[in-house]
Amino acid sequence: MQTALICGASGFIGTHLVRRLKNEGYWVRGVDIKAPEFSDSTANEFFLLDLRKEQDCIKALTLADGFDEVYQLAADMGGMGYIESAECEIMHNNVLINTYMIDQAIKLKAKKYFYSSSACVYRDMKIGEDALTEEEAYPALPDNEYGWEKLYSERVVSAYGRKYGITVKISRFQNCYGPEGAWIGGREKAPAAICRKIAEAQDGGTIEVWGDGTAVRSFMYIDDLLDGIRLLMNSNVSEPVHIGSPEYVSVNQLVEVVSMIAKKRINIKYVSGPRGAESRNISNEKIYALGWKPKFSLEDGIRLMYPWVEEQVLHCKYT
Ligand code: NAD
Repeated sequence: MQTALICGASGFIGTHLVRRLKNEGYWVRGVDIKAPEFSDSTANEFFLLDLRKEQDCIKALTLADGFDEVYQLAADMGGMGYIESAECEIMHNNVLINTYMIDQAIKLKAKKYFYSSSACVYRDMKIGEDALTEEEAYPALPDNEYGWEKLYSERVVSAYGRKYGITVKISRFQNCYGPEGAWIGGREKAPAAICRKIAEAQDGGTIEVWGDGTAVRSFMYIDDLLDGIRLLMNSNVSEPVHIGSPEYVSVNQLVEVVSMIAKKRINIKYVSGPRGAESRNISNEKIYALGWKPKFSLEDGIRLMYPWVEEQVLHCKYT
């Protein structure tokens, strides 16, 4: 039986990845600094650990003969509000996690190591610019410190791969959304935040949006991301690969899709707030070459996510 360690197993992507690997027949150990929030962990084994500590990385990675696959998803992160307000914590915590994890993965004989990077490694873009390739992350100019840490940790992981021969996979994810992710509390990202605000609003009501609603993003449904991660893990590609929906929309269009699915007429009040990059457009050619194709349009994915957020809102208000 193949063995996998998932770091950040109580997080959004980790929760879904544990389930996917279990369904594929893996024996899975999940680790996280917090217990699973929305459903019990389906991992075969779950350890509460703080991966900023080297000793806890050792506990996570210790297994007779070493793990076949390690998925390093643990990170101090959140939506743009969190990324802009917690720069020091993000850089401090994530660099510790990523440096100890790859170092101990070598010592404890892990065979394959997956590192989750982000589209935040790319520079800010103007609306309508041609797609950037993965190589065009350099010369580097990420528009936030979270992106700089991701880029640095990509380099750390790659250097260990070159020196010690561990198989390394790096993916730069675009925004990903779906049920069982942060939806309130400051770490939620745009799709969850918009779903929550619309679930809370009356028909004909008004929601607040940071910026002027024109910022352009792509939003990928969780199942598509998992397909991409698994394809990449089984490929012979070792350089960073972008995974993201090719459907780029403005924040205003995201609000339209959610209000249509919620069957509510919604007005927008634009307020000043951390908007993040003006636009993103990143090439998918590398992941397409591995056979990846997203199965969910934004509308398909929000149809699956919105009822879940609505239920959280109702549960939160009335219990
Ligand atoms: P998440 O915040 O839901 O999950 C991250 C998990 O890491 C959390 O459960 C958190 O408790 C855990 N963690 C944080 N510090 C830890 C520590 N010291 N020790 C152990 N665990 C710790 O985030 P996610 O959306 O599931 O993202 C997973 C990975 O993918 C992250 O590395 C993130 O940067 C990256 N990523 C996510 C997106 C996205 O849209 N969700 C986009 C780009 C990149």
